[in-house]
Amino acid sequence: MGSAERTRAFLLRSVDFGEADRIVTLFTETVGKVSVMARGARSSRRRFGGALEPFSLIDVEVAPGRGQLDRLSAARIERPFVRLLGRLTHMREGGYALEAIRALLPERQPEPRLFTALIDFIGALDAPECATPRQLKLGLLVQAIAVMGFAPQLDRCGVCKRAPTHEQAVQLHPARGYIVCRSCGGARVLLSGRTRALWSGLTSEGWLLAASTPWPDQQVAQVSDALKPLLECNLERSVSFV
Ligand SMILES: [Zn+2]
Repeated sequence: MGSAERTRAFLLRSVDFGEADRIVTLFTETVGKVSVMARGARSSRRRFGGALEPFSLIDVEVAPGRGQLDRLSAARIERPFVRLLGRLTHMREGGYALEAIRALLPERQPEPRLFTALIDFIGALDAPECATPRQLKLGLLVQAIAVMGFAPQLDRCGVCKRAPTHEQAVQLHPARGYIVCRSCGGARVLLSGRTRALWSGLTSEGWLLAASTPWPDQQVAQVSDALKPLLECNLERSVSFV
């Protein structure tokens, strides 16, 4: 990084470094995911005005550092989400989402659409009446895999290219990223016609509303059972955040 850059960000992770410092991983709006040295963040909480906590939209300035890491030169809270911090389930699902984003994003690849989705997601978890924290996280993950380019193809068999009817249940092959019809051998993850319609809604602009409206248990299970192997195949490791 040549000169200082000011951008909005969410904290993804913070690790103590030495007596006084922390290395923080941020998801920034304009630079993407970046790890920076926060000098003095460990010895004095006031150094960055309490901004280095998860679930706050923060305004940061990142400057070239002396070593390999850039350094955090300033941080302040732009928008706190205090209601969320009083809800254990919401904090857990929010934490899973931040963990997933940290795992999925490569360093320094700006993803403004995902950044906006994350602001909306945290805002929804913080809303006065939020009854669907897990669905919201699943919705954000559907958005994330679409942004990262491995959304599954659910509209036609990846082998024979035949399209199922809207009502028809399909079988998803997570490693191949497409559905396989029964005559082509089938696959192991079942998605009903309704779940496919829901999934399609979660990939659209209206995903937040789709994720805020309660789903039947079967659909929660089907979306989750499809997302987990899709993420695991792509990250090449097991995940616990789905
Ligand atoms: Zn087929």
